Amino acid sequence: MAAEIIDGKAIAQRVRAEVAADVAAWTADGRPAPGLATVLVGDDPASAVYIGGKQRASAEVGIAAYDHRLPQDAPHAEVEALLHELNADPRVSGILLQLPTPPQVDGPALTELIDPLKDVDGLTPLSAGMLAKGRPGLRPCTPEGVLELLRRHDVALEGAEAVVLGRSDLVGKPVAALLLQANATVTTCHSRTRELAAVCRRADVLVAAVGRPRLVQGDWVKPGATVIDVGIHRTVDGLVGDVDFAAAAERAARITPVPGGVGPMTIAMLLRNTLRAARLQAEAAAGAPAAR
Ligand code: NAP
Repeated sequence: MAAEIIDGKAIAQRVRAEVAADVAAWTADGRPAPGLATVLVGDDPASAVYIGGKQRASAEVGIAAYDHRLPQDAPHAEVEALLHELNADPRVSGILLQLPTPPQVDGPALTELIDPLKDVDGLTPLSAGMLAKGRPGLRPCTPEGVLELLRRHDVALEGAEAVVLGRSDLVGKPVAALLLQANATVTTCHSRTRELAAVCRRADVLVAAVGRPRLVQGDWVKPGATVIDVGIHRTVDGLVGDVDFAAAAERAARITPVPGGVGPMTIAMLLRNTLRAARLQAEAAAGAPAAR
């Protein structure tokens, strides 16, 4: 294997330590600890595990965690009322509604009700619009994690050919927008893209977020490229990504493993966003222009 491994677990630990130090400095000045409210509707075991992880990680860095759990049959209006309450609660800096929600609850519509200053998932239309316009704002956590991995490995983005596989609101589109903001030349691919392998072979930076196990073959990778694999799938061979790791690592210069690549970055970026949200609200309360 030729490629250097991008160790997302180690980088996420460093980011978490930095956030812990920044939170300590924030509270040392007499301010209340930032607060993260998580809202989980229903009893999906995977979602409960994610929420538990976010709660524990918050506590570790000094962020106050508010854990709201509603039953599987909670009506839409009840979740909506809770979100309004959290929007108004000054102890809450960030709000995260865990998706997917049960069918009677329109999760994407509810996400849009979150106060943009508390939008630590970066998924409200305002946050998405600010990103599209290249204006400061809260960014979605997984895409921000992808960029952080590239930054920490000094991957040259300016003028680089970047290819993003996937165009979801959650991952593909924001990753492409962040790469564009970093002055890469960005191509976004999706299920109707022709000659996918040939397009990928142009990439200096290849980001796979397609949700298809090992779709990206080794010979899709340009020799010397940086490969970031966002996918995560439980298979009979264990956890795998959207990239055929062993074959891609023969050609890439750098590559993220699955697990231990992008995955750990998501929570680290959520913590950083929560502190950033607390700062934004303090600035807004002081009447300062929104600088992020
Ligand atoms: P998604 O909403 O299902 O979007 C998948 C995208 O890939 C769509 O744009 C789709 O195109 C495209 N696509 C699907 N099959 C394709 C194919 N054969 N060729 C080219 N494009 C294809 O998924 P997502 O939410 O973005 O997530 C993507 C992956 O990242 C999943 O494996 C997910 O589990 C993982 N993920 C990981 C984290 C983390 O923290 N590590 C966070 C979020 C997601 P169309 O638009 O044309 O349908």
